[in-house]
Amino acid sequence: MPPDAARHAILAIDQGTTSSRAIAFDPSGGVIASAQQPLPQRFPRDGWVEQDPEDIWRTVLETSRQALVEARGKGFTVAAIGIVNQRETTVVWDRASGRPVHNAIVWQDRRGAERCGQLVAGGAAPAIRRTTGLVPDSYFSATKLEWLLSHVDGAGSAAGRGELAFGTVDSFLLWRLTGGAAHATDATNASRTMLFDIEAQGWDGALCREFGVPDSVLPEVRDSAGAFGTTDPAVFGAAVPVTGIAGDQQAALIGQGCLTPGMAKSTYGTGCFILVNAGRDRPEPGEGILATVAWRLGGETVYAVEGAIFNAGTAVQWLRDGLGVIGESAASEALAAGLPDNGGVYLVPAFTGLGAPWWDADARGGLFGLTRDTGAAHLARAALEACGYQTADLLEAMGGPKRGGRPGFGARIDRGRLRVDGGMAANDWLMQFVADITGAPVERPAVTETTALGAALLAGVGAGIYGSLKEAVAAAWRAERIFTPSMAVDRRKALRAGWRTAVRRVRNGAR
Ligand code: ADP
Repeated sequence: MPPDAARHAILAIDQGTTSSRAIAFDPSGGVIASAQQPLPQRFPRDGWVEQDPEDIWRTVLETSRQALVEARGKGFTVAAIGIVNQRETTVVWDRASGRPVHNAIVWQDRRGAERCGQLVAGGAAPAIRRTTGLVPDSYFSATKLEWLLSHVDGAGSAAGRGELAFGTVDSFLLWRLTGGAAHATDATNASRTMLFDIEAQGWDGALCREFGVPDSVLPEVRDSAGAFGTTDPAVFGAAVPVTGIAGDQQAALIGQGCLTPGMAKSTYGTGCFILVNAGRDRPEPGEGILATVAWRLGGETVYAVEGAIFNAGTAVQWLRDGLGVIGESAASEALAAGLPDNGGVYLVPAFTGLGAPWWDADARGGLFGLTRDTGAAHLARAALEACGYQTADLLEAMGGPKRGGRPGFGARIDRGRLRVDGGMAANDWLMQFVADITGAPVERPAVTETTALGAALLAGVGAGIYGSLKEAVAAAWRAERIFTPSMAVDRRKALRAGWRTAVRRVRNGAR
């Protein structure tokens, strides 16, 4: 680190689904200043989710300005900006005026579901998977962009004339921050569009034709750290370089310092996202697990495998808001800890079906093993335990089947540690249970804002504040607490067998 870097701050713009935040970090990962604003969502029809790009821009601008003023007040100079964003959300804007042609279509939006169903029925899934690492789904940007270009009045012909620009949220923000000078994205965000060849590292011509996307609308895909552009002085009163961009889950992987192949991070929020660093060779993970870009630096791509648990915190939310058996989420901890065991009670929170490794969209939740002794504590414990069982199941599924006698990707998952973050990671009882049931030590970082930190580290590398990601992580990542597995193997096996029985019943019930 250069000697003058100590008073340098890095601003992370963290543009999420429900809020925009700006956090200024010092080079050792300390938070100097932060600001947050909620972001309104719109639901024009059942299954449709939109956001006004002007709301996205306004909340980013206001929170960033607030954090910049606070950081400057503390004697720091903001030397670089990193952007981390909700992934897949799609914006199309007019290049001349900078005005969006329609609301942003948010990742949760399902309007492309039928189109994806047709693609799968037509046998397109294997080719899409080979090229993009994804499973055809309306969650990704391709069908959202197709819809915008074919349904917004005049958009298709304007795109044909080269008048429109497409971008995920990072790209739209970069364009606005640089006063229209840069139309670019990074490889992690590109890898979530379902238009990007993750091996060739370029837009895929065949997929772009399939979805009616002309080359002229596409942003340039760059490394995740480097010179993306400089802010228009009108925006923040100074020209600040934007030097890092990544999608939220990838940024968290970086912010958790998962730099070596096999290292995994698990984010426990409403749902749970697990990403595992897969190294420099494009992985072939098991069914329903995605292959994606972890980051690209110096033209070299590092890959990740990604799996999601749909319902993690939702089980606790259900106890709190649906049943009213706990007043606040954190109360689940003392309740669960107060019991000697789970009393044979299992909750399968399949509120919206079951993900990996069961892939049963029709399954619905179930509560098993109730006796007259069952109380609120058993329910709380069962809700938390479910997160642990699902983590163990997902890590196993991420391995995929053996291929040609060789072990699947799972053999390469580093069972020596699992790094955790998200709202539920504050729950000590749950973190100990995750360690016990997976057999992996669970490492909780001192800075839990891992997505923002990841963007800041990338930006720091891009600006030369750090010589490498390794140096950045060494400077900024610290464990706050490590939960060491202490459960006897027999007990773990018995608990997981009980869980599997409960899952079987939920699936039989659905049939
Ligand atoms: P997201 O970013 O997905 O909106 P957060 O990371 O803020 O969510 O996590 C919120 C979720 O975590 C909620 O479902 C909430 O019920 C749960 N949660 C928060 N704190 C705790 C806790 N101490 N124990 C258990 N669950 C918690």
